[in-house]
Amino acid sequence: MYVGDPALSDHSWSRLGSFVLDHVVVLDGTAAPDVHPAVIEALAVPDRNRPDAAESMIRLEHSRERFAGLPLPELGGQPRPAGSVTVQLASAGRYCGEVGIVLRDLPADDRVAVLGALAVPHRRCETGPSQSSSADSGSTDPRARPVKCRPSTRIPAMEQWEADDARRRHMARFGRRDTAPELAVRRELHRRGRRFFVDRRVSARCRVRPDLVFPRARIAVFVDGCFWHYCDEHAHLPKANAALWREKLLANRRRDAANTAVLQSEGWRVVRVWEHDDVCEAADSIELELARWTSIVGR
Ligand SMILES: [Zn+2]
Repeated sequence: MYVGDPALSDHSWSRLGSFVLDHVVVLDGTAAPDVHPAVIEALAVPDRNRPDAAESMIRLEHSRERFAGLPLPELGGQPRPAGSVTVQLASAGRYCGEVGIVLRDLPADDRVAVLGALAVPHRRCETGPSQSSSADSGSTDPRARPVKCRPSTRIPAMEQWEADDARRRHMARFGRRDTAPELAVRRELHRRGRRFFVDRRVSARCRVRPDLVFPRARIAVFVDGCFWHYCDEHAHLPKANAALWREKLLANRRRDAANTAVLQSEGWRVVRVWEHDDVCEAADSIELELARWTSIVGR
């Protein structure tokens, strides 16, 4: 892909955004039959490579904590062609639950079950399934079939991102709640078929997290509460320490303006809507920006 490619698919955009914004490489895959949904869900949790790298596989650093207590497959011993996603079973002792991505064809191991395979298109399209080791050749085990080119479509990428965001916020106890006006705007845009990211940092230069982000159109939306952002119409200072509050709220307003300027300097178009705005009008103003972008890229 090249920068500015207007024909980039949403899928590629999503993956690129995940890498650039979160430093996460998202890998698509296909689950083996009969793998418990809880195990598949656990595979969607971001993890790191173990620091002590292995030559033949990528091992996930925190997978044992996540997987050891889950309903893992009862039987291991499936062939492990490159691209397989595997888990160590209870018989592997303290390694139980460790998940790995196989980098080169490995022999079957009774203590290891195959959970699925990464979607690696060239593997099937160019070389076919006959790359497995000689010990496995001739196997008709359906679980050993080549991986599919088509990425898993169980969860649309954007939806998954929103779910991940929510989970991360929950786990990090990030402190800021989804405010009612923000939720209303999100709901209205969803109803209109718009997809976006929620509450994510977009700039290396400022820590601000826009409430809604359209990375493809490079639009950042803030739904500003009337009190904290010191709306002219509704801001009322608390009686106690009014002068201090006024200073603080004015500082908030200056920070909002500074954040807007930083984002704009990085090519974002910033839309600020007020808590007191009519939700349909707020959604209209966001869609207006999206339409401008669409007219620019000509699609
Ligand atoms: Zn207001």
